[in-house]
Amino acid sequence: MRDLFVYNSLSRKKEKFQSINPDFVGMYVCGPTVYSDVHLGNVRTFMSFDMMYRYLLHLGYTVRYVRNITDVGHLTDDGEDRMSKGAKKDKLEPMEVAHKYTIGFHDMMRIFNTHSPDIEPRATGHIIEQIEMVQQIIDNGYGYESNGSVYFDVTAFMKDHPYGELSGRVVEDLLVETRDLKNQNEKRSPSDFAIWMKASVDHLMKWNSPWSVGFPGWHLECSAMSTKYLGKHFDIHGGGNDLKFPHHENEIAQNIGACKCSPANYWLHTNMLLMNGKKMSKSDGNTITPIQLFTGESPHVTKGYDPMVVKFFMLQAHYSSTIDLTNDGLLAAEKGYKKLMDAIKVLEGLTSNASSGTIDSEIDPILEAMDHNMSDDFNSPKVIANLFELVAKINGLKGGQLDINQLSKDCLDKTKKAISAYVYDILGLKDNRVSEGAGDHLEGLMSLILEIRADSRIKKDWDTSDKIRDTLKELQITVKDGKDDTTWSIN
Ligand code: AMP
Ligand code: ZN
Repeated sequence: MRDLFVYNSLSRKKEKFQSINPDFVGMYVCGPTVYSDVHLGNVRTFMSFDMMYRYLLHLGYTVRYVRNITDVGHLTDDGEDRMSKGAKKDKLEPMEVAHKYTIGFHDMMRIFNTHSPDIEPRATGHIIEQIEMVQQIIDNGYGYESNGSVYFDVTAFMKDHPYGELSGRVVEDLLVETRDLKNQNEKRSPSDFAIWMKASVDHLMKWNSPWSVGFPGWHLECSAMSTKYLGKHFDIHGGGNDLKFPHHENEIAQNIGACKCSPANYWLHTNMLLMNGKKMSKSDGNTITPIQLFTGESPHVTKGYDPMVVKFFMLQAHYSSTIDLTNDGLLAAEKGYKKLMDAIKVLEGLTSNASSGTIDSEIDPILEAMDHNMSDDFNSPKVIANLFELVAKINGLKGGQLDINQLSKDCLDKTKKAISAYVYDILGLKDNRVSEGAGDHLEGLMSLILEIRADSRIKKDWDTSDKIRDTLKELQITVKDGKDDTTWSIN
């Protein structure tokens, strides 16, 4: 198997990847909090880990990819559970909120052609495991109960183990992060953090425990579920770099506190998605939803973009760099994506009977560079640059500047295989363009559009569903909602 190098946030170094068990990789990625629609920043992060998962499979590893669904315990800055907040906003039960946005999340992940994880555990489905872990932490002397809540005793932990190695943050930072001021008098030290919280009478999501009727702290779910499905010690733990502190730092402390074992060997972090040079933020209008990006219904874009163009745009940046989403960048990505897909069509039609040729020695190093670059911390922008070196050769062969008789059959076959592997299997792109076989594409696009519409109806998002129906009507496409299904026809 080819050597793989990854940047490990824990050691702050690029390291040779060595799996714990030969040929097997256990990978845990922090999933979404399902209290609102998935946003493009989330998409960027999950798309990056999808690419890593795909490449590990390509290298020949058997991978168990676990990505959780957070449906309890992730509090807002003012201490309200995000799920309860979503429930009040939408006038639904918290579990209806979780269900609705989990469906929306899965639909969006499918639209972006990402694989499902192998296990997708929910925090609310693992309350028993979390209670057990709290008990282990108490038994080991790193947790204490106070007024029905249980706190992680950071001071006791630091007597035996380092704290802050992943984020480089010091324990004083926890004082700033730990905003549950109303509970400060329950803690032995203000930097302690809650692993079990006693619920108030009006709190919506709560369970029985040895300490109180309450709910688990957010960081705990990932410690409990990664241990359950990947063991105490596994290979890769990932998430966006905004989770390094306190979420991942506290996960490490909890795992060591419960099992005396640091959970993962390699910590991988994706960087943030920006828009027009600034953090995407709903409050100052600097935001765009995936659907707005597809339809073009936003002041930030001049037209709609295919999901594969958006994906191609994001993959042009390394997962550890920020990406700035701009209309100009998307326009350029659209051109690049089309050029790549056109060249693949040309390549498919090329044949050669030559047993050797001068072009082979130009193509071989590019193919080798693609493998090298992907194995060098999943460097997708460099791989895309290599793909365009191949596109130049393909277009040279098409235009007659290069002679197909100078390209051996072996090298041509190898190139076809490598391009297909990188473009479709590893980067996870699809050819979504409408061209020959337009009928099939139209069917595909219509089922995608109707899927988005059905989803928006489930979410009672009538604006989106009406907009889709009205726009289709303008395009002379009539949509009829039957009892069991929705049909469409061109007028
Ligand atoms: P959340 O639903 O907020 O718990 O986030 C789910 C995942 O998306 C986490 O790994 C976050 O780090 C990641 N994430 C959140 N915002 C962004 C962003 N703007 N860019 C990239 N990743 C993000
Ligand atoms: Zn997590």
